Amino acid sequence: KEKDPAQSEFHQAVEEVLHSLEATVERHPEFVRENIYERIVEPDRQIIFRVPWEDDEGRVHVNRGMRMEFNNAIGPYKGGLRFHPSVNPGIIKFLGFEQIFKNSLTTLPMGGGKGGSDFDPKGKSDREIMRFCQAFMRELFRHIGPDTDVPAGDIGVGGREIGYMFGMYKKLVNEHTGVLTGKGLDFGGSLIRPEATGYGAVYFAMEMIATRNESMEGKTAVVSGSGNVAQYSIEKVNELGGKAITISDSSGTVVDMDGIAGERWDFLMELKNIRKGRVKEYAEKFGADYYEGRSAWDVVSENDLKVDIALPSATQNEISGEHAQALVDRGCQVVSEGANMPSTPEAVKIFQDSGLLYGPGKAANAGGVAVSGLEMSQNSMKLSWSREEVDRKLQGIMKDIHASCLQAAEAYGKPEDYVAGANIAGFLKVARAMTSCGIV
Ligand code: NDP
Repeated sequence: KEKDPAQSEFHQAVEEVLHSLEATVERHPEFVRENIYERIVEPDRQIIFRVPWEDDEGRVHVNRGMRMEFNNAIGPYKGGLRFHPSVNPGIIKFLGFEQIFKNSLTTLPMGGGKGGSDFDPKGKSDREIMRFCQAFMRELFRHIGPDTDVPAGDIGVGGREIGYMFGMYKKLVNEHTGVLTGKGLDFGGSLIRPEATGYGAVYFAMEMIATRNESMEGKTAVVSGSGNVAQYSIEKVNELGGKAITISDSSGTVVDMDGIAGERWDFLMELKNIRKGRVKEYAEKFGADYYEGRSAWDVVSENDLKVDIALPSATQNEISGEHAQALVDRGCQVVSEGANMPSTPEAVKIFQDSGLLYGPGKAANAGGVAVSGLEMSQNSMKLSWSREEVDRKLQGIMKDIHASCLQAAEAYGKPEDYVAGANIAGFLKVARAMTSCGIV
């Protein structure tokens, strides 16, 4: 905190993890001796650079780009790129730090990293997005590589942006390699990668509910956001017989008691992915309720909405303590975090004290990076697996992550605590690798 006083999100993520890791100190004197706890919170490398680009009117803009290469003890740095005006080193460090443990939990050989820019893609033309992505890659290319650091998407970075960045990388390096994941299917992408984070978060929710002998059938889900993670979480909830009733963006929230399914889900996909419109249009089209300026969690708190399952899929710290209390009061049984750190520490405490099933992001949303890992494997082998094969592997990975969270929690004296379980299970493998590799 003294070194980087402004990085509140990073401090929040570190405090949560270190609190869980207290349970490992006595059992692993070697980690204390090698000072793993202090080493793991310092990134291997922080790269910050200028991104100059030209808009359609010929005006020159300058944004800041960055890549935090956090830890490569168990594999190449791996983690998404976020384009959003709020991006700063503290946010990217929190995401990169979380990524170390998440990637370790997937059982695949991937280290942790994260990057992005304070560039705001909203309202930009397709050509402006392309020029920005190219300018961003003109610097980033020298720091990444298929065995060094493999970025992917995150908020504001989807298939289109990955395509433009991959095109520039390929041009500069003169190699067609798996340096980015989330690529288009025609040039090295994996089936199920777009769906993976949302599907994975719902698979994780299913695993949690199954411990209480229940299923998704007939359950009502509240989803925040309307981007990649929200869209495929909703699709999977529908497929499993549940009903998703909300979508949101930074302008407001839609509540559709008929459920966002069938032609309504198709409309959402077209609205957000092709026309890049706002969720308000969905409410206008289908006569659903729209709450201007309110988040999904404000709407739950201010109205008597029945909620069985909460799937936060927008951004960090979107659920406050008051929101969490409202969810508990409305009968919510499961929270599965598609977003990264969407619940404040106060909210997490309320969830855990209430006995509700709370799946933290680094476990619940690991499906995205897991399928990115599968995309890397397919690129290395120069082949592609079928949709069924990738989905089967994704389901298996989410099941294993769930089991290893519960096992670690039990083994370290915190039974049924998914937060402690995810942090400890993710940490042990990385800490052992760091210990074996010496002080570097
Ligand atoms: P998208 O850019 O596709 O969608 C983000 C959605 O969240 C949009 O609806 C956006 O609304 C809303 N949102 C973003 N920031 C804010 C904010 N500050 N306040 C209110 N609403 C906001 O991103 P993704 O769906 O990919 O990512 C969502 C979350 O999931 C993030 O936390 C991300 O880190 C996490 N995640 C994503 C993975 C992936 O594979 N994509 C993997 C693992 C985690 P608006 O358009 O108005 O900004």
